[in-house]
Amino acid sequence: MSTLNHLIDEIKERWTSIMYAFFDPNPTLEEENGRKYVEFKCLGKNCRQTKRRYLDTADSMSTGGLRKHVISCWGKEVLKRASTADDIEQARDKVIIPYRESGTLTTAFAWKGKGKPTYSTRQLTKIQTKTEIVRWICEDKRPMKMVKDRGFLCLMKSGRPDYYVPSPSTVSQDVKQVFIKTRSHIARMLQESESRISLQMDAWTSPNHKAYVGFVASFEDQGKKRVIVLDIVAVPKVC
Ligand SMILES: [Zn+2]
Repeated sequence: MSTLNHLIDEIKERWTSIMYAFFDPNPTLEEENGRKYVEFKCLGKNCRQTKRRYLDTADSMSTGGLRKHVISCWGKEVLKRASTADDIEQARDKVIIPYRESGTLTTAFAWKGKGKPTYSTRQLTKIQTKTEIVRWICEDKRPMKMVKDRGFLCLMKSGRPDYYVPSPSTVSQDVKQVFIKTRSHIARMLQESESRISLQMDAWTSPNHKAYVGFVASFEDQGKKRVIVLDIVAVPKVC
């Protein structure tokens, strides 16, 4: 049993989907006829349902089954609200539990969600740290070697010297991975969009005399205008 518990800690690291917030944070790892599966207990007030996820199938990380249950048990509105949380714990503490206890959306919805930074009371897992660093480096345009800065490491590791901080090359690989995933996500989003898509181009020269062309797509997504940068290309010099 102890090896199974150890295994579940490893698997848990990879659970970042908001769907997990709707289930007991300590699912059990069971074994039946030599097949291991994780059993998720729904947190719904009168729901006794459990969902099994077998670990030996190709889609062992897929959250499709959990999502289906969440929608039928909690409804799309609660799921939508929970999705605005920064992480699973926040979604559970700020939206799901208040909703379960009060039975109304008002309590769960009193929480402001994105825009007002709130911080988890729990230390980030390895995967969460990696994800946050990719987001930070990309959103704030920081150099990847910043994770080696003495001051940064001092802030991250003081009081917890074992705290995991990725190396610049790991950050670089992670950024590429996220880029690849995001690119196909955007492609799918544009292909599936029912809105008309307007493509724009903008060319300009940087202060060091290099010419660039940017490609932007504008479209409507769930009643809101969205603008996405598709690519920025450096124009080769013609002499
Ligand atoms: Zn349920």
